[in-house]
Amino acid sequence: MLCFILISCLVLSVVGFAITPDEAIDRLLEGNERYVRDQLLHPNRSVIRREAIVAKQEPFAIILGCSDSRVSPEIIFDQGIGDLFIVRVAGNVAGPVELDSLQFSAEYLHSSVILVLGHENCGAIHAVLNKQTKDIENVAALIEPAILLARQTEGNIWEKSVKANVRAIVARLKVAPVIKSLIEQGKIKVIGGYYELASGKVILID
Ligand SMILES: [Zn+2]
Repeated sequence: MLCFILISCLVLSVVGFAITPDEAIDRLLEGNERYVRDQLLHPNRSVIRREAIVAKQEPFAIILGCSDSRVSPEIIFDQGIGDLFIVRVAGNVAGPVELDSLQFSAEYLHSSVILVLGHENCGAIHAVLNKQTKDIENVAALIEPAILLARQTEGNIWEKSVKANVRAIVARLKVAPVIKSLIEQGKIKVIGGYYELASGKVILID
């Protein structure tokens, strides 16, 4: 019996309980800070962790990020296996397929935050800005409305467009039925971020 209790405690300590949205955001930002400072902990990469989550995953955060090879979520947030549910697509857009994946994790895996992560020098955004979209028409169609908004303000058009795209996606996710309901219950938050390639820093954006 004692053995069973000890094993149960060990598994629970490895898998963890659901955390609040603010705790999830803090965990992401703390991991990113370690990455920026080159003080990585590489958490949750042991055999114990791997075996503990065979039967059940409970990723604390969902990342909707760009496919760009320089923006790998587990690395830039210093997280391990089973920590992040990740949807990656050029321009970090949210079409019907991506939305299904996001809502699945939010509802059934009990993730506590959705972070839409745009990044500096995003090629998909650049392609739309320069009307070079013949190979990415479906992605471009989802990005174009945000770029029209970005063009109405002053500043670096590339950066403004990345951020406008993130804001538009965050707004779209917040009214998706499953996510909207979870927000109203206080179980999840949807936030946006901008990743700086050189510094490695993720900056939350309004
Ligand atoms: Zn990109």
